[in-house]
Amino acid sequence: MSVVAATAEFIVTIDGPAGTGKSTVAHRLARRLGLEFLDTGAMYRAAALRALETGIDPSDGDRVAALVRDLEIRFDWRRDPPELLVDGDAVGERIRTQEVTRAVSAVASNPSVRAAMVEAQREIASLHPRLVTEGRDQGSVVFPDAHVRIYLDARPEVRARRRVEQLATKGIIISESEVLAQIIARDHMDSSRRDGPLVCPKGADVVDTSDIDIDLVIDRLEEIVRARAGSALRGPFGGAGAP
Ligand code: C5P
Repeated sequence: MSVVAATAEFIVTIDGPAGTGKSTVAHRLARRLGLEFLDTGAMYRAAALRALETGIDPSDGDRVAALVRDLEIRFDWRRDPPELLVDGDAVGERIRTQEVTRAVSAVASNPSVRAAMVEAQREIASLHPRLVTEGRDQGSVVFPDAHVRIYLDARPEVRARRRVEQLATKGIIISESEVLAQIIARDHMDSSRRDGPLVCPKGADVVDTSDIDIDLVIDRLEEIVRARAGSALRGPFGGAGAP
């Protein structure tokens, strides 16, 4: 058995705007390929949650930067998906509220916050080197040399509808037009910031999920990864991991 093969790095990045199904797709793809899964949006959401909880205005750059300097954000990798711990506290669904969603892009546009998150994400990858990581800047900034870089997209109306349906399952009823306005505002902030803006990484495979269901999206992504990976995807015994 080759020890090198057992630990060889293999990174798949998935970037794209809100509502393309990135998290679900990335998590399920990781399971199929026997890789670990990193939700980087959760890390920015954690910072936004703590800012709100401590009464800091999310757009107050200096105070948010100071907050993040002292914040411990880590994951419990024994859970699947890995459980986010903020200063040791399992924050769960508290990072997914509408309030956090509205605040997160301001926090994420803070250069000090981004620098801290990029460093933390690279450190995570050094400890978990066989990874599907999803976010906005994973293929463009954090892991530009990843084996496979994917950009997921979908029409804004479709993304808004999906988000409304997702919120409804949590008992949150909100109109499609309101969600669409939020999505467009968040896309704009995420794409126009100076550091780590949302862009399609150079050479990335682009998949539009507007008209395909999630199982087909995952099949398509698995095809792309296997075609691009060559032998790099094989685990220590020659397999790719769980089916
Ligand atoms: O993916 P999710 O909707 O959970 O991301 C929440 C927010 O975190 C995004 O709107 C974006 O502002 C920020 N984010 C980011 N860079 C990442 C991941 C998320 O700026 N890599």
